[in-house]
Amino acid sequence: MVKPVLQATDVCKSFGGRQVLHDAALTVAEGETVVLIGPSGSGKTTFLRCLNWLETPDSGRIRLRGDLIGRDVDGREHSEAALSRQRSRIGFVFQRFNLFAHQSALDNVAMGPRRVLGIQAEEARERARAELARVHMSQHIDKRPSQLSGGQQQRVAIARALAMRPELILFDEPTSALDPELVTEVVDVMRELAVGGMTMVVVTHEMRFARQTADRVIFMDGGLVIEQGPPEQIFDAPQAERTQRFLGHLH
Ligand code: ADP
Repeated sequence: MVKPVLQATDVCKSFGGRQVLHDAALTVAEGETVVLIGPSGSGKTTFLRCLNWLETPDSGRIRLRGDLIGRDVDGREHSEAALSRQRSRIGFVFQRFNLFAHQSALDNVAMGPRRVLGIQAEEARERARAELARVHMSQHIDKRPSQLSGGQQQRVAIARALAMRPELILFDEPTSALDPELVTEVVDVMRELAVGGMTMVVVTHEMRFARQTADRVIFMDGGLVIEQGPPEQIFDAPQAERTQRFLGHLH
């Protein structure tokens, strides 16, 4: 059997004694786009951040193509170096871009391949140019973040993730910080990646993206995965009462 790209099982997480994830589980197959939806505070971002150990789960296992992330089977924490190697296989796109303000778009994208993968400077820049072209940013490669719109900055951030040639990319509300008129350019790039076969897990409130692009939609509420299925099932015929209520509120 082909190993899933990502497999998370029984993930629990508490903050200050309050449990925000209850045995959350997720399996993502090669080339699949999975979209997590649910009310604010339902644990979507926390779950996403647990997947690449930006948050340390209290318990549970995360496997990337079978390799355990963050912790051994016996519960021993991995070293920072091991964790950094594991994280380099997983792209992460933040709500607020997190670009280096004093660097050009090109340098922002080339930095990971140079510093983390040890690729030569010119080759890293070549790779960065190719990834910036892929997100339709070729004419802006010498600009700094402050000279770019939010949508353009987010596309640079996506190119930065792509430049690491990750096995999957996690997106944490990638359009939430954008002015409404800039959402489409980012959503379009994400759709192109999905169609191109990239493996993606996306937390978003963009229901149009979920409906049109997701292979599978997962509805979370109260730190639990309540229901999952293809978008037409979740949006048109949700089974759980909580899903129905959430989707009903959107109309
Ligand atoms: P969602 O992404 O669905 O909006 P989150 O994962 O951001 O939900 O948050 C789930 C719950 O965990 C919320 O109640 C939130 O306030 C809490 N939470 C998230 N991160 C932290 C943190 N670092 N410290 C304390 N509480 C947190």
